[in-house]
Amino acid sequence: MTDEPSIATYRIDADDVIQDVDAEWLQFAELNDTPGLSREAVVGRSLWDFIAGAEAEHIFKQIFERCRERSSGARVPFRCDSPTRTRRMILAIEPRPERSLEATSILLAAEERDYVGLLDVKAERSDTILYSCSWCRRIQLPDGEWREMEPGVRALDLFGEDPLPRLSHGICGDCEVRTALG
Ligand SMILES: [Zn+2]
Repeated sequence: MTDEPSIATYRIDADDVIQDVDAEWLQFAELNDTPGLSREAVVGRSLWDFIAGAEAEHIFKQIFERCRERSSGARVPFRCDSPTRTRRMILAIEPRPERSLEATSILLAAEERDYVGLLDVKAERSDTILYSCSWCRRIQLPDGEWREMEPGVRALDLFGEDPLPRLSHGICGDCEVRTALG
């Protein structure tokens, strides 16, 4: 699959309202199970309508605030995985006039993976909640340990489970340190 974009950009104003997105951003949204978004439908909405998880939102807000206060850019590594593909990305944030920001997602590496039902938004879910780190996409085992998706699914013996647990977004200890305010 080579038809996915490698760079996508959005611009937000001082209140995190989306001012503009490019065609590649919309293409990414499509790949991540938010099909049918047009530029007109996105501009004017809060960025947070499109970010999954309170923890991720909280950290992004801190990073954005730091960029605005210092008028300096930031580069944050993150993962943007789908059921059949892992994507290592960087979000590059640049300050713009009047506390607006421009953020560019850059795809560093993508790899095919065997289908992971846990990441399929169409899969049926139970009431059991499983935490996934918003940044590195590892999942948390009952003992508190964070594991990569595939070994985590194996350790939890989720292959035969139906329906699958619901994924909730959190942040693991490593990513909390990595994204901490410097
Ligand atoms: Zn993490």
